Amino acid sequence: MAKVYFTSTRAPVKEPHRWYQPRLSGVSKIEQLLKMSGILEDIKKGEIVALKTHFGVRGTTKSLRSMFIRKVAQMVKSKGGEPFVTETTGLGMLREQCFAIGKIKAAEESGYTSQTLSSPIIIADGLRGFDSVAVSVEGSQLKKVYVAKHIAEADKVISLAHFKGHMNAGFGGALKNIGIGCVAKTSKYDAHIYSPPKINDNCTECGACVKICPVDAIRDLKIDVEKCIRCQGCAEVCEEDAISFKWTSSKDLSERFVDCAKSVLDLVGSANIKYVNFLIDITPHCDCCPYSDNPIVPDLGILASDDILAIDKASVDMVNKAPIIADSMAINVEDKFHGMYKWARSSYQLNAAKKLGLGDIEYELIGVD
Ligand code: SF4
Ligand code: SF4
Repeated sequence: MAKVYFTSTRAPVKEPHRWYQPRLSGVSKIEQLLKMSGILEDIKKGEIVALKTHFGVRGTTKSLRSMFIRKVAQMVKSKGGEPFVTETTGLGMLREQCFAIGKIKAAEESGYTSQTLSSPIIIADGLRGFDSVAVSVEGSQLKKVYVAKHIAEADKVISLAHFKGHMNAGFGGALKNIGIGCVAKTSKYDAHIYSPPKINDNCTECGACVKICPVDAIRDLKIDVEKCIRCQGCAEVCEEDAISFKWTSSKDLSERFVDCAKSVLDLVGSANIKYVNFLIDITPHCDCCPYSDNPIVPDLGILASDDILAIDKASVDMVNKAPIIADSMAINVEDKFHGMYKWARSSYQLNAAKKLGLGDIEYELIGVD
């Protein structure tokens, strides 16, 4: 049975004269949590440690606070490791978050800098999101995955996931932070979209798709699927909706990004990846959305584990047991994520990870004060 360590982030001080208690800060508590869980213990001097998080996009206001990432970076340094904070570019070719420069600029405006994080920020899949290592995988649906290059090169990876809802996957935690967040643009496409793009009869031959294609895969109104690196740019730029593609269902998206997570674990080595889930500001939407709605349940705390499945199962269970916040999207049903998104179920990701043997669905929750 996997061990999942937990610390509450509540600070229920009642006496006014005892208000000054720095040890009640979530930043102090994460230090104790990481010590007790032992997840940093095997970091060796000089090892390069990727701290994989999600900065959100311009307009997101409830992504993970920089002070938590900074504390983890400082603890990695105290073990002799060389941390860098990382994430990958978004799917597509039009928005600023689709490229490393835009991603870093938006992150800086949200308070994530090398100074606040005490580590450099390095976007793991390169300037445009295609720097990757191709990995063959026996997944439920995918056979090849493009792991972001700097994740592949890291000695160790620590997933720092803001645990929250997601409108197609149901929830986003460690499985999604690794499965979507550690792969390059081509694999993000393969997770989200069923097949390569195709030009339809309503094309007006404006040429915009030809211009944006980074690999010259469009000739004579036909897409060469062998050349296409699945960036989604042509579909984004077409004002006539003449390029068709179909988004994956919730179950297929979940199974596909769990396949991607398996590839990352296979390549980096599952013993070299550890997980911290922050059950703080548990918003209904992903941090890719340019807004942050009210959280669905109160802040619950922080979890740490060396098991990618156990930590997400424990996180889902804690959210489902918690009271809902009245002025939020939450509905008081057994699976709160399914309650908000009828087409999604928490079990899709969890069962897919169990089927591929990524971790243990049974866990022991160990409280840390
Ligand atoms: S952008 Fe759309 S309309 Fe223009 S050439 Fe491409 S498919 Fe045709
Ligand atoms: S054809 Fe492929 S590579 Fe070219 S823009 Fe479209 S999705 Fe991107």
